[in-house]
Amino acid sequence: MIAATHTKTFIRCPHCDGDEFPVDHILNGTWKRSFGPWYCDTCGGSFRGTKDDVGQIDLELLDERKVQTLDLLVLQPQAKPVYFVLRGMRFEGPKFDGYPDNKEFFYEEHSCPTNWLRNIQTLIHDDDDDPHGLIEFVRSIESTPELLERDDMREAFPEAFSNDQKGGA
Ligand SMILES: [Zn+2]
Repeated sequence: MIAATHTKTFIRCPHCDGDEFPVDHILNGTWKRSFGPWYCDTCGGSFRGTKDDVGQIDLELLDERKVQTLDLLVLQPQAKPVYFVLRGMRFEGPKFDGYPDNKEFFYEEHSCPTNWLRNIQTLIHDDDDDPHGLIEFVRSIESTPELLERDDMREAFPEAFSNDQKGGA
């Protein structure tokens, strides 16, 4: 079958030419409108813009910056278990008939929690599915491409690797 395709319009970050920002929703319609501030994930720079009634976009560079951070949190030892509801998946169809859906292996051996904690739908603790304060903020540092490249969390957050429970309160 022939695939349906469509074209998207982007503007590039006016500071660094890095990030692309989709603007089809801005270009829709013939009325004037403004948008932003938008922040670039590559350079942190910001801008806002206006669109006139013939679809011309005019940008204004701003001084504000978005600084990406790494934020250390801690889940202190708990008297009661903490449950995680994750958004998962399984596959159906003739190709998968007879294959066991081995989620225990997937979660406990095959993959690191770092990979699937981003799929958390809900945390449940002590009969509470809205457990504010369960996970405590410790410290925030500026994230840099070099830091992410090195991926050395021992260097970035040494307190998280000591065994004397310094993290948190
Ligand atoms: Zn940029």
